[in-house]
Amino acid sequence: MTSPDLIVVNAPIWDGHARDKDAVAVAAGRIIDTGSSRSMLTLSGDDTKIIDAGGRRLMPGLIDSHLHLVRAGRTWDVEVRWDDHRSLSEALDAITQRAGMVGPEAWVAVMGGWHPMQFEQSTGPTRADLDRAAPNNPVFVQRAYAESFVNTRAATMMGWSEREAPGGRVSHPAHMAALRARMAVDEVDEAMSGTRRLLRELNALGLVGAIDASGFGITSASYDAFLRLFAEGERGFRARLLLGAARPGSEMDDMREWTSRISLDWGDDFIRYLGAGEVLDYGAHDLEGLAPKDIRERAQDLKDISFFLAERGWPVQAHSILDTSIGVLIDAWEGIDRSALSRLRFSICHADQIGAENLHRVRDLGLGVTIQNGMSMRGMDCAPTWGDQKILTSPPLRSMLDLGIPLAAGTDGTVACYYNPWRCISWMVTGESIDGSPPRVEEQRLSRDEALGLYTSGSAWFSFEEETRGNLARGSHADMIVLSEDPLKVGTERIAGIASVLTIVGGEITHNTL
Ligand SMILES: [Zn+2]
Repeated sequence: MTSPDLIVVNAPIWDGHARDKDAVAVAAGRIIDTGSSRSMLTLSGDDTKIIDAGGRRLMPGLIDSHLHLVRAGRTWDVEVRWDDHRSLSEALDAITQRAGMVGPEAWVAVMGGWHPMQFEQSTGPTRADLDRAAPNNPVFVQRAYAESFVNTRAATMMGWSEREAPGGRVSHPAHMAALRARMAVDEVDEAMSGTRRLLRELNALGLVGAIDASGFGITSASYDAFLRLFAEGERGFRARLLLGAARPGSEMDDMREWTSRISLDWGDDFIRYLGAGEVLDYGAHDLEGLAPKDIRERAQDLKDISFFLAERGWPVQAHSILDTSIGVLIDAWEGIDRSALSRLRFSICHADQIGAENLHRVRDLGLGVTIQNGMSMRGMDCAPTWGDQKILTSPPLRSMLDLGIPLAAGTDGTVACYYNPWRCISWMVTGESIDGSPPRVEEQRLSRDEALGLYTSGSAWFSFEEETRGNLARGSHADMIVLSEDPLKVGTERIAGIASVLTIVGGEITHNTL
């Protein structure tokens, strides 16, 4: 047997549950074995690198099953992120700082991932705040897809009066989209730089892979930088790409084009196409579920597109939040050959508001669900139409697990939500929101083991890789993380603050502060 390239010792292992093992040996990018530090060290050869984890927890690397990675990479270098600020004045300082870096007249933007209630002041920025922070720059600050705030300069540049942006608040989806369009980076080099930086940030949080959820308006050109980065040797992250409808009204044409141009056999262990999603049909998209939406008139189109994809052997992960929309989606899928549905692992992303009847239909059809923590920022927005009780149980994590529905976790970052996986794990375990909603009911929370499981083997299932990813079994990809604090033992209030101190992807170190 060839000796390992790498052995990590003194690292108590969690692999689905805590193991009586504290070392792992790696060769050629794969796990050779796990065991006691002493037994693994007997495998070492002259060239084996040995890392002592100092007793810190080691586990399979995290996989986000629904992240808007490609889109985020295109703007990452020009975005200001507020995810981690706890004070509005600090957040505004970050805008001032950025304005100083980019110079007058350049746009400065915060594009989602934050909520006013995360600040000590419990309030978001006013127009006057943004004017003061960057008087010579157009500035906009977007809160999920609910609203954006612009300063005077931005309103002027967009040609908006008090009517379009009363008090600096913009809420029309088209106006919000027009603001975001200002930030799109067309230069491939810039988008590559942003994407590279984003992937390293994700590594530092403990993420080793993600299913990219495509998104509104993502076209084939949007992938140029992402694909080139991997073509030029990106090996620190595994991306599985879903391809979505790009143009409202031409969804079927878009899917015909993707399926004729793209082979699902293309790619390697680091980047490959997975299937279709998350947008199949714009008319059937219920956005963030803040308002009731009747999508019944789109049922036939949804059915046509879904049948088309199933016939071509394309897996699907489709967006649906409201129980009524989920019902229409399941109606559309019910006519598809049952064995094709489960072979292709058709799945619903979000499913936040799903009720008991549709839960059983999901189970009966063998569909999967990728869940995200969007409700941790959206409960108060949804309460008026969902009811106070419903937001405390949405999504019904425990009911889904108990029914045996394949589940995965993710954040839906970076606009609809923050992208830190530990904040999602914390939400699954504690039920605590950041928007002022009361905590989720205890019966719909998860244990730490369960939450970590959804972020590892759970997510791997959705890209058909549960055998080789999301675990530390012999022969699996050597994707693993050593953590700043033990997620099994630390106080629940500290889970959200965990980070990786050592991230290894395919046996190579991509992040190390050990
Ligand atoms: Zn979605």
